[in-house]
Amino acid sequence: MKKFEVLAGIAVGVVAFLTLRGYNLLPWLLLLGLTYFLVATRGQLGDIGRKKVGAVVGGSSRITFDDVGGQRVAKRELMEALQFLRDYERAKRLGIRPLKGILLAGPPGTGKTLLAKAAAHYTDSAFISASGSEFIEVYAGLGAQRVRNLFESARKLARDQKKTAAIIFIDEVEVLAGRRGAQVGHLEYDQTLNQLLVEMDGLRLEDEVRVLVIGATNRPDLLDPAILRPGRFDRTVRVDLPDKEGRSEILSLHLRNKPLSPEVSIEDLARETFGLSGAHLESLCNEAAILALRRGSDAITQRDLEEALDKVLMGERLERLPSPEELRRVAVHEAGHAVVSETLRPGSVAQVTVSPRGNALGFVRHAPQDDVYVYPKEAIEEEICILIAGAGAEEMHYGSKSTTASNDFQRALDLAKRIVSYGMSPLGVVDRDTASPEALAKVTREILDRCQDRTASILKKNRAQVKAIADELIRRESLPGSELRKMLEAGGPPRWRWRRMPSYRGKRGLKVEEAARG
Ligand code: ATP
Repeated sequence: MKKFEVLAGIAVGVVAFLTLRGYNLLPWLLLLGLTYFLVATRGQLGDIGRKKVGAVVGGSSRITFDDVGGQRVAKRELMEALQFLRDYERAKRLGIRPLKGILLAGPPGTGKTLLAKAAAHYTDSAFISASGSEFIEVYAGLGAQRVRNLFESARKLARDQKKTAAIIFIDEVEVLAGRRGAQVGHLEYDQTLNQLLVEMDGLRLEDEVRVLVIGATNRPDLLDPAILRPGRFDRTVRVDLPDKEGRSEILSLHLRNKPLSPEVSIEDLARETFGLSGAHLESLCNEAAILALRRGSDAITQRDLEEALDKVLMGERLERLPSPEELRRVAVHEAGHAVVSETLRPGSVAQVTVSPRGNALGFVRHAPQDDVYVYPKEAIEEEICILIAGAGAEEMHYGSKSTTASNDFQRALDLAKRIVSYGMSPLGVVDRDTASPEALAKVTREILDRCQDRTASILKKNRAQVKAIADELIRRESLPGSELRKMLEAGGPPRWRWRRMPSYRGKRGLKVEEAARG
C-alpha cells in the first residue's frame, strides 16, 4: 500500500512538472485511464461471461408424479408428451418429430417446478434448472452465451450421469422469451431469445443426448409467438389452481408424515381452502405443525389447521389490539357479515373471528359446499349483500358506519360494475366506453340500492342474533360456523357455563363452554 502511495505521489509530481514545462499530457492521461479501466474490469466481464447458469438438482430428480397432488390433467398431458423420451426407439421408427419444448403455464405455486422434476424422474433424464432472469445482463451477448452454456451443461451432466436424455427447466421463461422489441434494452433480450430458438431448432432425436426444454410461466400472454410455434414450445400444459379433490390430495401429501389427531378432517379443510395453491397448502400444513409444537402437543389438531389457515389467508396475528369500544364495533360488523351470509347461503360460514390479522381487525372465513367457477347474477348480488352487511349491522346498532367497511364497499361497487359490464343489468350488453355515464351510474346505483334493502331486511329480522353473536365474539374471539348456525337456529346464544382461562388478549379472562341445553 505504501509503495502504491509513493508511486502515485511521484506520478502526480511528474505530471505537474511536465504541465508547467508546457507539455500537453491530456491525450496520454486519457489513454492511460482507458487502459486502466479495461485491465481493471477485464476480470469482472470475464466472470459475467463465464457465470454458470442453471442449478443441477442433486444427481437426478427424486420427485415423482406421485409427489404431485391434484393436477390430474396436467400430469396426464405431460406424461403423454414425454412418451417419446421414454420410448424413443419406437418414436424413431415411426418417424416422430420429437417434442423440443413443453410450456407449463399457470398461477404461482401450483407445482410447475415439481412437475418438471417429476418429468425428469419419469424419463430418467438429467435435470438442470435455471430462471429466465439469470440470462439477462446489461452486457450485450452475455445472455446468448449463457443459453449456449446451459445447453452444453445439460448435455455434459447427462453424459456424466450416463443418461441419454436431459431436461432443461427454465422458470420465469417469459423474462427470457418475452416478445422481441418489447423490452427497454431490447437488443440484449432479442439476442438471448434468438439464441434459445437456435438451440431448440438444433435439437434432434438422434442426438447423443436428447434434450427437452420445459419452460414455466405465470404469464403466457407475454411470450414471443416465435417461441410457441410448432417445433419449439409446441405443447402448452395448463397447471391451474387445484380443485377440491386436488386440494385434498395435496393436503394428504403434506400431512402424510405428520402426526394428526383423530378428529382432523382433510375433507373439511379441502372444502375451506378454495382458491389456495399447492404452495399455500404446503405452508398451511407446516404452520399447523409449528402451532402444535408451540403448544407442546405431539399431534396436529383440527384447531391448529384452522388457525394455520387463518394465518395463510390473512397474515400473522397482530399485537396491536383494538380498544373495547372498537372491538365491540368490529364484533357487530363481523356478526352482520356472518348472519347475512348464513341466511343467503346456509352452511357457508366456516368461521367468524375478531382476532386482528394482516390489515383486518376481524373476518369471516367462508367455505362453499362446492368449488364455484360460474357466477349467475343472483350469486353476485348475494355476494354484494354479504359485503355490505358489516356496515349494515353497524348502522343498525350504532346509527352510523365506520371505516371498517371501506374495503367492503370498494369490492361491492366493483361487483355491481361487473354485473353491468357483463351485460347482466337492464341495459343489456354495453360498451363502458361509449355508454352514457349517467345510465351506467343509474343501473349500478339500482343494483346497490336493491342489495342494501335486502341486507337491511335480513339484519332487521335477525337483530337479536346479530347482537348475541357479537357478544359471543367479544367473549371468545372466534366462533366456528357450526356454533354460529346453532345460535341462528335457536334465535340467540346457547347457555354458557363460565370457567377461567387466559384470553387471547393475554390477560386472565373467561372461557365459555357450551352447556347442554336442557
Ligand atoms: P412458481 O410459478 O412461483 O415458480 P411453481 O408452480 O413452480 O411456482 P412449485 O415451486 O412447484 O410451484 O411449488 C412450490 C411448493 O408448493 C412445492 O415445493 C410443494 O411443496 C408445494 N406444491 C405446489 N403444488 C403442489 C402440488 N400440486 N402437489 C404437492 N405439492 C405442491
